[in-house]
Amino acid sequence: MKLFKKAADIRDFIAARKKERGKIGFVPTMGALHEGHLSLVRQAREAGELVVCSIFVNPIQFNDQDDFEKYPSTLEQDINQLEQAGCDIVFMPAIPEIYPNGYRHPHVYPLGYLETVLEGKYRPGHFQGVCMVVERLLTVIDPAHIYLGQKDFQQCLVIRELIRLIGSKAETVICPTIREKDGLAMSSRNLRLNIAERSMAARIYETLEFIRAGIRTGYLQDLKERARQYLTAAGFRVDYVEIADADTLELQEEWDGRKPLVILVAAFLHEVRLIDNMLI
Ligand code: AMP
Repeated sequence: MKLFKKAADIRDFIAARKKERGKIGFVPTMGALHEGHLSLVRQAREAGELVVCSIFVNPIQFNDQDDFEKYPSTLEQDINQLEQAGCDIVFMPAIPEIYPNGYRHPHVYPLGYLETVLEGKYRPGHFQGVCMVVERLLTVIDPAHIYLGQKDFQQCLVIRELIRLIGSKAETVICPTIREKDGLAMSSRNLRLNIAERSMAARIYETLEFIRAGIRTGYLQDLKERARQYLTAAGFRVDYVEIADADTLELQEEWDGRKPLVILVAAFLHEVRLIDNMLI
């Protein structure tokens, strides 16, 4: 496995290797890796691609400075895990490699409705920051496929839209959410939960299951409200419990029993914000 810190070096190396090994499968991450990240690496590997993984905690996608400062880092362990999972190349740039001209947005990405709801609404500017880093990484790595986790469902739709907007030839591959035994979606932020919070955190998955099991055609408001109350009673500060069209993310008040839906939850346990979702 090769490690790079400089964009120019990895670009040259990839260009040479591409001639021998063909397609690049790219897995962008912010490190503190867990089985969820590694499952993306394995999927790229199984597709027979040259696997590139980036580790970069992107300052401008954090709308909360404290969240950025406390974001976990386990670099040495990450590198070992990537090697074992069959990653070929790791890109670990410092900030100036990604933002040589500073953080100022050269332009605003016209993400439209996608940026006004759910994570877009509760984390202003977040998806603009995600688009800036992903565009830069796509330019440096030039992959055939970018592997993304369903765990960040709205982010998958945003990156798909970004790819369309910038005319990149990369295709998104959306991989299933990997969970702990009690259903909690694996997340780097789980490392910040204390023991009591960690055992409470599984309630988010229970809430998704509660909605999935209880959903009927007709109005959805009552079901969403009961789910929200369940989380609040368990000590969560809920940003949203929503049911949306799985293709467009339009929030749904009613269901016809046929339209593919996604249930989405975001809630804080003390200062740690967790998100999860489930397709119906
Ligand atoms: P992050 O390091 O949190 O920015 O995540 C990097 C990539 O890993 C994103 O595409 C995430 O959606 C994906 N990912 C994070 N957690 C999981 C999980 N539990 N299962 C599958 N993919 C995940």
